[in-house]
Amino acid sequence: MLSVRALRCACNAPHVTRSSAPAISALLAPIRLSSSSATATVEEQDENGEADEIVSRERDLNKPKNPSSQLAMMFGEEHAKKNHSISWDLRKLDLELMRIYSRQRAITETVKGPYRVRTVARDQEKSVKIDVRDNKVFVQKSTIPNIWLRDNCQCGSCMHEATKQRLLDTFSIPKDIAIKTHSFDGSVLKIEWSDGHQSEFSREFFSRTTNPERQNAILRQGLTTVKLWDSTIASDPPKEYYRLTGRAKIARVLLKIRQYGFCYVDDTPITPKATKGLLERIAFIRNTHYGGFYDFTADLASKDTAYTNIALEAHTDNTYFSDPAGLQAFHLLSHTDGEGGASLLVDGFKVADELCKTDREAYEILSTVNVYAHASGNEGISIQPYRAFPVLEHDSLTGDLLRVRWNSSDRASIELPIDKVETWYDAARKFDALLKKKENEYWEQLIPGRVLIFDNWRVLHGRSKFTGKRRICGGYINRDDWISKYKMLQLGREKVLGSLASG
Ligand SMILES: [Zn+2]
Repeated sequence: MLSVRALRCACNAPHVTRSSAPAISALLAPIRLSSSSATATVEEQDENGEADEIVSRERDLNKPKNPSSQLAMMFGEEHAKKNHSISWDLRKLDLELMRIYSRQRAITETVKGPYRVRTVARDQEKSVKIDVRDNKVFVQKSTIPNIWLRDNCQCGSCMHEATKQRLLDTFSIPKDIAIKTHSFDGSVLKIEWSDGHQSEFSREFFSRTTNPERQNAILRQGLTTVKLWDSTIASDPPKEYYRLTGRAKIARVLLKIRQYGFCYVDDTPITPKATKGLLERIAFIRNTHYGGFYDFTADLASKDTAYTNIALEAHTDNTYFSDPAGLQAFHLLSHTDGEGGASLLVDGFKVADELCKTDREAYEILSTVNVYAHASGNEGISIQPYRAFPVLEHDSLTGDLLRVRWNSSDRASIELPIDKVETWYDAARKFDALLKKKENEYWEQLIPGRVLIFDNWRVLHGRSKFTGKRRICGGYINRDDWISKYKMLQLGREKVLGSLASG
């Protein structure tokens, strides 16, 4: 079962093109090139794929067959038996190798450390020295390859002025494209290329080419300085007022969500329509198997614990999706004939930072061990992400914490050999204890008119149990869509689009 589980992961070193070639030939090299299933044996053609192939092989290994009588006749009984025995040994080795590679792929799939929780992000323009010599542009001490520069020509015939999409056929550029002449016009570098084309590049265009990754990530991901918080945020939580959140002003809400991971929008009309309209000022509402914008009363219509009245521990939503929702919003429209149902928020980045500082090993385990999740409550549905992800996910270029995935109810398998899974449980127990520390829990009773919008990649949410009838509306927004809106409003189109080639 374990090898089956491990094989579900996407490929990483060593890469193997899915193959159905016979086991012995596979042993000749760890990289198998056959991608065709045309030569598959009957057992290997099973529609369940590679996993079944392995199960089937394991079954085979337990039941060795006698060498065929044809072989015995051709080579003699003794040779045939020897050949048979060697071939079984090779198949066993093949199986073992597949297990080892699976494990290697699972490990290398996660981002390597050192990790950290980034809190400061200041975008600083730096002035760079640009030189042209020996047919090459130099920015500081880095050489800018001519092919890259020509490919990123910013002129209207190479790049669509409105959409910033490339119009130029990259591979029509000669491999040996060269600078014929150049001149500086103020801070603009003008180049005439050997293919006759003329380009102009600004100093700002070049400055980002030599930026450290951490600097470029600020613009690409819309990072800002983050304020980590604990339960004391209750005295002054981030909030805005509905009347001040028009299309252009929604940036104020988004900035607070970027800084704190959540923001209230007070004095919102107590209707689903106004709430939906507010969310749509950010971006379109995401559809899932639960629907799009929801307006529900606790009745277990959608078979998920969120739709009941029981207490929910702090968790993130959508761990069962490859791409969990970026934002989530709640608006309590009414609560009648009962009490309870206080909302719980926990700053996942703050708690991760605490773990990172107090137990580095546990932090590393939660950052490297992939975990699956599922959503199977609705009829005919069992969703799993296309691969497993660690609880703490980091930016592959900077090592900065990007996303927290934490939902014990929806957790499926842990991508470790069964005799090693305790290491994950030990690390997760420590994270869980920090999440449940009183000082980290911010409790608030939601009230009609107050919309809670929070970053589902950072802030965990939960609630206490309640009695009576609660009507809540809300929805999800994709991460890429809300960050896009935030960037365009906060940083401006020119800055965001000006950094596409080098950021
Ligand atoms: Zn051009």
